[in-house]
Amino acid sequence: AVAAAMLLALTATACESSDQDPDSDRSSDTAKIALLLPESQTTRYEQFDKPLFEAKVKALCARCDVVYSNANQQTDTQQQQAESALNDDAEVLVLDPVDGAAAATIVRAAKAKNVPVISYDRLVTGADVDFYISFDNEKVGALQATSLVEKLKADGTTSGNVVMINGSPTDNNARLFNKGAKSVLSTSGFRLQPAGDYFTPEWKPENAQTFMDGQISALGKDGFVGVYAANDGTAGGAIAAMKAAGVSPLPPVTGQDAELAAIQRIINGDQYMTVYKAIQPEAEKAAEMAVALVLGRDVVGADAKVNNGVKDVPSVLLPPVAVTKDNIKRTVVADQFYTVAQICTPD
Ligand code: BGC
Repeated sequence: AVAAAMLLALTATACESSDQDPDSDRSSDTAKIALLLPESQTTRYEQFDKPLFEAKVKALCARCDVVYSNANQQTDTQQQQAESALNDDAEVLVLDPVDGAAAATIVRAAKAKNVPVISYDRLVTGADVDFYISFDNEKVGALQATSLVEKLKADGTTSGNVVMINGSPTDNNARLFNKGAKSVLSTSGFRLQPAGDYFTPEWKPENAQTFMDGQISALGKDGFVGVYAANDGTAGGAIAAMKAAGVSPLPPVTGQDAELAAIQRIINGDQYMTVYKAIQPEAEKAAEMAVALVLGRDVVGADAKVNNGVKDVPSVLLPPVAVTKDNIKRTVVADQFYTVAQICTPD
C-alpha cells in the first residue's frame, strides 16, 4: 500500500498541458461536436471516454459544445442519433459505430453536409471517413492469446481445447482481435473450440454466458484448458457459466478493457488477464482532432494508414498493454485509471 501511495504521488505531478490556446479563437458562435458512442454496458464509455473527451474539448475550445448520444447497441438508434446531430448543425461527428458497415450510411449523410467524420475506436468500413483513432487491435488479440498460451505452458499444459469467445459480429474490432489471437493460437498446440468462430451478439455478457454453457455441455467440465474471451464483459459471462456448472479450478480466462470488476477478478484469481487500453490519450486525441476540424486547423499526428475498403484512412493507433496480477500496480494504478482503494473495495 505504501508503494502504491508513492506511485500515485509521483504520477500526480505529470499533468497534461494543452497545446492550443482556447482564447486564440475569436469567433463567438457555438460549435457543436457530436460524440456518438455505441453502448453503455461496457463501463469504459460513460466512465472514461465521454467525460475525458468532453473535458478536453472544453479545454481546447471555449465555444465548442459536445452533443453526446449513446446507441445502447442499436444500429437504428445510432442512425437516428447521427441524423439528429446533423439536423442540429453538428460541425464534426466523432462516431464509434455499433455496426461498422451499416454506419457508412451515417458517413454519407455527414458528407452530404460537408461534415467531417472521425471514426472513434471502431472503424467505419466502406465509407469516406476522414480520420480514425483507436488502438492496435490485432495486437490486442495477440497479447490476449500470448498471455494465455504462456500461462498454460508455465503450468505444464501444452495441449487441449481453448474455448474462443469473440466480440460482436458487427464490430470491426472484434474481427481484428480474432485475427490477432488466432495468429498466436493457431500455432500454439492448443485446439480452438468451437471449430467455426463464435461471435457474441452485441458483446453481451449474458450471450457469452449462454454460449459458454453450451460449450461446457458439449466438451464436459474438464474438456477445456483455457478460455479466450475478447473483453472483460464476455469474460465475466464465461466465468459465471463455469462457476454455475461447477468447473473447478477455473482455467485461465482472458479479457480486455481493464474494467474494475475484471481487475478485482484478476486479484481474486477468477480471471487471468485483461488488456489495458489507456482511454485518456484516445479520447483526448479524438478531441484535439475534432477541435482542429472545427477551427479549420491541420489535424496533426494521424500518420498511420488503415484501409477501410474504400480508402487508406489517416489514423492514430495507440499501444495496448497486457495486465496480469503481476503488473496491476505498474499499469492501471500508476496511470491513475483506478486507485488502490477502488480496486480493494468491492462494490
Ligand atoms: C472496444 C472494446 C469494448 C468492446 C465492447 C470494442 O470495439 O474496443 O474496448 O470492450 O467494443 O464495447
